[in-house]
This record gives sequence, C-alpha cells and structure tokens, in this order.
Amino acid sequence: MEPSRILEFIASHKLPNYRAAQFNKAFYQEYLTSFDECTTWSKELRALLKQDIIFSTLTVVTEQKSKDGQTMKIVFERNVDHKRFETVLMRHEDGRNTVCVSCMIGCPVGCIFCATGKMGFLGNLTATEIVDQVLTIARMLKKENQTITNIVFMGMGEPLLNLSAVEGAIQIFTDPNKMGMSERRITISTSGITDKLQELLKHGYTGRLALSLHAPDQTLREQIMPIAKKYPLSQLLAVFKQFAIQTNKRVSYEYILIDGINDAMTCAEQLATLMDPKLSHINLIPYNPVAGVSYTRSSLASIHAFAAVLEKQHIQHTIRVTMGDDIAAACGQLVGKK
Ligand code: SF4
Repeated sequence: MEPSRILEFIASHKLPNYRAAQFNKAFYQEYLTSFDECTTWSKELRALLKQDIIFSTLTVVTEQKSKDGQTMKIVFERNVDHKRFETVLMRHEDGRNTVCVSCMIGCPVGCIFCATGKMGFLGNLTATEIVDQVLTIARMLKKENQTITNIVFMGMGEPLLNLSAVEGAIQIFTDPNKMGMSERRITISTSGITDKLQELLKHGYTGRLALSLHAPDQTLREQIMPIAKKYPLSQLLAVFKQFAIQTNKRVSYEYILIDGINDAMTCAEQLATLMDPKLSHINLIPYNPVAGVSYTRSSLASIHAFAAVLEKQHIQHTIRVTMGDDIAAACGQLVGKK
C-alpha cells in the first residue's frame, strides 16, 4: 500500500490525525492480513478503506521451501504490469530471519555469473513494492510467532541504481511510527556504483554496506563484472574504507569463489593486501550454478585453502553456508520464474 494513500484517505474523509497512527500500528507493526483486521477503525470506515485503497501492490504467485526448511523463495507478481520477481527468506539456525529483498525486476549490471544479470533489466520496483515484499513475509512469520530480524538488499537488482526507491523503503522500515527497525539491521549490497554510493552516504545512511567484490584486481573484476570498467576498484575501496572509519563498522566484501577464475592462492594473497583487518569482513561464497553459465563452484579444498590465506593475514572472513540452492534461491540464482 502506498503510504501517502492513507494520508489522502484521512484528509478526504476529514478524519482526525490519530487515525493515521492507529492505521500505521496495525498495518506496519501488527502485520494485518486485510483491512478488516484494523479493528480500531469502525466497520464503515474499513469498508471505505477497502473501496479506496489496494491492500498490496504485489500478489504472491508461489512459495517454495528448501528441503531443510531454512529457505523460502517467493515469486511475486506486481499488480501494475504482472511482471514477476523473487524474494527470499533465510531462517538461520541462530534465530535470525533475514529477508533478501529485490529492488528491480532483472538487473542492468550484467555480472557474468548471475542469473538475474542474464535476464536483462525489466524495470525498477517502487519503494512500496519493496516494502510490500517485507510485509508479506512478516505476515507469514507472524503465524509462527516470529518476526523479521534483518533485511538485505541482495535480491534481484542493483540497489544503488534504484536509489530513491531503496531509500524510500528504508525510511518506512526504520520509521518508529511504521516498522521501527534499526538501520543496523539493514544491509545494502552493491556491485559498486561509486557516485551513487557517495550520494547514499551524503544522505546520512548508517546501515550496513556490502560490496560484491569477487576479484582482487581491476582486470579480473572487469572480466566477471563488466560494470567495473566504469568504476575503478581503488576509488571504490576508498569510499568503503571511509564509510567504515566514519561509522566504526566493518564493511562486508562478498567474494564468490568460481573454480579456476578467481580462487587461486595468488588471488587470496592479493585480496588480503586490499583489506584493512580492523574494518573488513570477507564473505566467501561458494559459487551457485546458473543455467547457461559455464562456471563451476570451487572445490572444498580450494575454498579452505583460500580462507587459510586470509586467516594467516588476520583478515576476518566466513565461508557462507549455501542456503536454498535446491530451489534456486541462493546467491545469484534469482530469476522470477514460477
Ligand atoms: S550480481 Fe547483483 S548486480 Fe550483478 S547482475 Fe546480479 S543482481 Fe545485478
């Protein structure tokens, strides 16, 4: 639901302002599943609300759960043009429930290893469409007395190329009168659009940042992420480092390990030299296969050898546990198909 619509509704029906607070509490904090459940409003008002405002900008097409039950992939269709995209819920063993939101349908960035990139760009999602993904999942979790603990912009699309919508959504996630989440629980993951990143930081973003790095030097990065040609790695890393210093938060660097491409020990050594041990965390991600891409996942031995090099240089790192690859919901596999 478009947030401005409720204010227009209140104004056009000459309702007192406290109605907005009642509505926001029910809609954004209690995760009502239909306007009928907004019982602080009279039956007549609820009927008018249903008549005037569409409850969600999205329709759920399918829900798919991984075998271990820890990952759920939802295919959404947006009402406006029936285009489809995917959102993922990851249920971690430590109790975190992370929603991996999409901000675009397809993606214009075209990383060679990514299924979304192969789709091309089919459109930006609006702030409301981003929020409606999260609300839909929050309503599902509510049935199990659970809540969303983290939101990551790591689904389909490049968040910094749809910045106003992403910022608009974050405003709703963090507004104490709406979802009231701490910005610390939100992560923007980017392929590295330096000028837009600077714009985001200028606007005062204090959430978490992750850079899809995937290569330890400019040449290799350009090979697997063509957009890197526009954004020199040295400048990009300098902005990330500055952000880490200013906010006193470690920045995450995502590094997908692809067999024979970027998993050599020399790559690990070079990567270690780029990192400040106090301000960086490297997420090593075993590559998830994508149809039509000839890349394969690095062997377990190579992944551990790569990690050992980082360990030796005291660079904080984790090897990401692959979640949801049996339902094509893992990193780089989202395509929006039923
Ligand atoms: S990895 Fe991210 S930025 Fe690159 S093509 Fe895929 S969705 Fe776009």
